[in-house]
Amino acid sequence: MPNKIVSVHNIHKFYESGHVKVHALKGVSFDLHEGDFLIIKGRNGSGKSTLLRQLGLLDKPDSGTIHLLDEEVIQMKEKLRAKMRLTKIGYIFQEYALLSELTALENVMLPAMLLNKKIECEKRAHRLLSKVGMERRIKSLPNQLSGGEKQKVAIARALINDPKVIFADEPTANLDTQAANSVMKILKELNKHDNHTIVMVTHEPEEEVFANRIIHLADGKII
Ligand code: ADP
Ligand code: MG
Repeated sequence: MPNKIVSVHNIHKFYESGHVKVHALKGVSFDLHEGDFLIIKGRNGSGKSTLLRQLGLLDKPDSGTIHLLDEEVIQMKEKLRAKMRLTKIGYIFQEYALLSELTALENVMLPAMLLNKKIECEKRAHRLLSKVGMERRIKSLPNQLSGGEKQKVAIARALINDPKVIFADEPTANLDTQAANSVMKILKELNKHDNHTIVMVTHEPEEEVFANRIIHLADGKII
């Protein structure tokens, strides 16, 4: 059996806005192993992004446990969580989340600059931008790039610290068919070729062929 990368046990998440309390995750449990390509699907509001954010250490559930690489991360001190987020996790957002003042190359280098010498970051960022087919756009600013190009830069950025697991929240939702296909091709390569573990939220049934596992969320529960 491959190594366990993530183990989620009975997590609950509540949001409170004013008088309204939303029970967004209602006891979610599952394991994820090295090399898995997991797709999370479900209707809008079913809790997909919430689940991904808890796994990616962008937020904390109200109860339950999450083990990431055998370490329990909910009780973990924030400083250690931040380090894990930086070194073990790559996160890709639907809206790219690139910094508009920085070039493609600088955006990709940024998460590595806290850990390494600049020259090493730059070399590695170059290599990753070539890997995603963006070697000719390294000096471009985000607003000079198409949606698909921005998402490729965001993928390169997610890879810069060689993470164990990559989380992607509807990474193709804003892209036309051709750009979406090319992003999916890159994610498939990362999984098949480089053995990256991937968790992706998507609405697109045709993207399910890339996954070896599918979780269907409805109203905060796995069905
Ligand atoms: P999905 O990604 O499947 O569309 P979300 O995880 O974004 O679902 O949302 C799950 C539920 O939690 C929804 O009812 C949503 O309105 C609610 N929710 C999400 N984020 C917040 C928030 N920051 N504050 C209050 N409610 C939220
Ligand atoms: Mg969502």
